[in-house]
Amino acid sequence: MSTQTAQALSTLSLPSSPPPTAAQIKAAYHRALLLHHPDKARPSITTTTPPPSKRPTIDAIRTAFLTLTSPSNPNPTHPTNRPSTTAPSPPDPAAHAEPLDISEMDYDEEGRVYSYPCRCGVGGYEVREAWLETAAGEGVFEVLVGCGGCSLWRRVEFEEGES
Ligand SMILES: [Zn+2]
Repeated sequence: MSTQTAQALSTLSLPSSPPPTAAQIKAAYHRALLLHHPDKARPSITTTTPPPSKRPTIDAIRTAFLTLTSPSNPNPTHPTNRPSTTAPSPPDPAAHAEPLDISEMDYDEEGRVYSYPCRCGVGGYEVREAWLETAAGEGVFEVLVGCGGCSLWRRVEFEEGES
């Protein structure tokens, strides 16, 4: 332990062994700051406070705190150096599907398929009438359909008996 660290521990009234944790250093720092300001200190603390002449200056307290929490000190942990492990999850395309009313779609009676052009101009949306019947049978009056030519999705809404 360096002399600087030993002095910093003494300034904050911290024991050198075992080495104080980052939380203990922070608590001691706040305690020292409170003691330095008698108007902020509670009476119980004030009674145990040494005479003002023996108290460390606010600069000494701050320096001691910075000494104990600086990166060169291997003891305290620095959460800012921790690499982020949570990668952003990919967006769910279906969650951002724009609603589309079934009445806006073209209906092919032969194939019993509703179709609608996509803004990408390449693919399009196709909803089979059987899907609507299945969904309606489950009490759901919308189906999600993805474009065949791009990654866009639409939420096709319909009403009961509209097919
Ligand atoms: Zn498309």
